[in-house]
Amino acid sequence: MKHFNADDAIAGNVEWVSKRIAVACEKGHREFNSVRLIAVTKNSPSKVMRLAYQCGIHDFGENRVQEAGPKFKEIYDIRSLIRLHFIGHLQGNKVKDALEISDVIHSIDSLKLAQAINQHAARKVSCFIQVNVAEEKTKYGFFKEELGTAVRNIGALPNIEVIGLMTIAPLTGSLEEVRPVFAKLKELNRGYGFKELSMGMTDDFEIAIEEGSTMVRIGRAIFGERS
Ligand SMILES: *Cc1c(COP(=O)(O)O)cnc(C)c1O
Repeated sequence: MKHFNADDAIAGNVEWVSKRIAVACEKGHREFNSVRLIAVTKNSPSKVMRLAYQCGIHDFGENRVQEAGPKFKEIYDIRSLIRLHFIGHLQGNKVKDALEISDVIHSIDSLKLAQAINQHAARKVSCFIQVNVAEEKTKYGFFKEELGTAVRNIGALPNIEVIGLMTIAPLTGSLEEVRPVFAKLKELNRGYGFKELSMGMTDDFEIAIEEGSTMVRIGRAIFGERS
């Protein structure tokens, strides 16, 4: 995180993050292109999304429908060239709106939500099942022991295509404490063989990549601290 906030810093930050992704891939014996960078633009205006797009970013993460909807209208001209990943907790009454703007939903955290998505979807939607690996009270997602049933029930819904598992690691002082969380998500996925693992944010993406992440969701390292 060399730069903060100034618009012209975004290009440098994207480059810096990409380098760090490359190094982490090397460390984890991975191909560089096996990891997709999702730029998390929550709290950033559409102007910033446009700048990121000009820096080669094609995947954007947003966590609130009310915020992402209007912003995406402002970049309608590049909308078909980018993908929106919905990464936040989704309330039932926002599902319809979320489906209108999102290409991928990373945060299926209940069967009820999955059923609502299935009901409102006009097409098959690519989704992740969110796992609360560390079983934190403050986080959404299925517990490990619930995952088998969840995968079975959600997998049976015709308008949902489960493409992977997603987790948010605990906020801790020590990075090595999050490694087992990412390793656990990968291990859980062995039983299902989903293609994607959505894990890793600004503070922990390198470890997530070493442990097998295929999509990192990065905000602050690219756009600076959120106000
Ligand atoms: C905000 C957010 C991110 C990005 O976090 P940074 O620490 O800014 O990289 C990633 N994933 C989710 C689910 C988020 O809400």
